[in-house]
Amino acid sequence: MKLYSTNNKDLRVSFQEAVFHALPQDKGLYMPEVIPTLDSAFIRHIQQYSLPEIAFHVAHALIGDAIPSADLKAIIADAINFDAPVRFLDAEQAVLELFHGPSFAFKDFGARFMSRVMGYFSKQGDQLLDVLVATSGDTGGAVALGFLGVEGTRVTILYPKGKVSKVQEDQLTTNGKNIRALEVDGTFDDCQAMVKTAFSDEDLNRTLRLTSANSINIARLIPQTFYYFWAYAQLKSQGAGDVVFSVPSGNFGNIGAGLLAYKMGLPVQHFVAGTNVNDTVPRYLTDGQYLPQPSIQTLANAMDVGNPSNWVRIQDLFDQDIDSIRQVVSSYTFTDEQTKQAMDELFAQYAYVACPHTAIAYLAAKQYRNEHPGSYASVFLSTAHPCKFPDAIPATAFQAVKLPEGAEALAGKERRVTEIGVDYEAFKTYLLDNR
Ligand SMILES: *Cc1c(COP(=O)(O)O)cnc(C)c1O
Repeated sequence: MKLYSTNNKDLRVSFQEAVFHALPQDKGLYMPEVIPTLDSAFIRHIQQYSLPEIAFHVAHALIGDAIPSADLKAIIADAINFDAPVRFLDAEQAVLELFHGPSFAFKDFGARFMSRVMGYFSKQGDQLLDVLVATSGDTGGAVALGFLGVEGTRVTILYPKGKVSKVQEDQLTTNGKNIRALEVDGTFDDCQAMVKTAFSDEDLNRTLRLTSANSINIARLIPQTFYYFWAYAQLKSQGAGDVVFSVPSGNFGNIGAGLLAYKMGLPVQHFVAGTNVNDTVPRYLTDGQYLPQPSIQTLANAMDVGNPSNWVRIQDLFDQDIDSIRQVVSSYTFTDEQTKQAMDELFAQYAYVACPHTAIAYLAAKQYRNEHPGSYASVFLSTAHPCKFPDAIPATAFQAVKLPEGAEALAGKERRVTEIGVDYEAFKTYLLDNR
């Protein structure tokens, strides 16, 4: 497998290079040189396969000989060891639940696969790989639990003090082993700025082998294609015909993976991107002007993104042609008030408790159906378990939430965390003193 940069198609790198240096020098993003088309017999008979079998087929088509088949199978068996079930709420609406992994959010797919690929490519005798990650909550948990115990790696997580929920904080701070948590007395943007500065600090890079676990990493994108194929397989075996996927979107990595799956031959009628009031993409699809904005805080805080980093990949998949994007993708924006109403409605009508991100995908699917009635299944993606967002979910609905097993176990564990201010030098000193 070779990849090019979206800013320079003549630049070609190997899969391994793109995994460890996720950002090309020219600040584009890596994309596969060739998007393989899966054979039609595989798609026709897809309901015969399990999730790991589908994942291997798709990953092998994309990655080629960058990882030998037996090793790739082992990586997938270890990384994708939980289900992603499709549940119908009524005859035409279903939810694809992506929160059955260890951090109870869909980011487990990306983080677990990427951590194992990084571990695989790190040879014995290589310098320890230091993964730095800033998180507003979900990314950190998935990366921590994904890398926990992966040999040759160490993770340092920066999170904003007082701004993550209890379950999220437990997932960040109770791991020990090769995972370290830094509580920053500032915002998520401060955390992200400190990590960015570290990556461009030559002095630090001479001493430590730094890498990022950011959602722009191609090794996070690839495993996110798996569950679109798996959802389609489940729908097919349940007799569903055409499918429309509705995806709650922030950095647009999740829907980007869906569109990559589509380009590989997955038969999807349409994609819908739901956003909170950070509406750069819905505005773009309406008026053709791409105008990123500073991010605005909302209930669906994992989607508080004013300048979605993966959008350039979607532009690239559609050859920069807005009209071909519009044929496949619709996008709608929703306020916090609408999101709350949707969580109430889902609970009242279907006894289903959704996190705010999931509620936005539900709203987007509904709006698309109002504008495009037809006999297709609307499948909205549930990106996180509601237990991670106690303060954002209306109390009547939240009362019905059952803590998943793993969350109870974490709550009893000792927390280990180092507090630091918004101070790059303090962060750097911490990294150098704790080698
Ligand atoms: C990260 C996240 C999203 C947004 O996904 P993108 O790939 O950034 O669009 C949505 N919901 C939850 C719960 C998340 O953690």
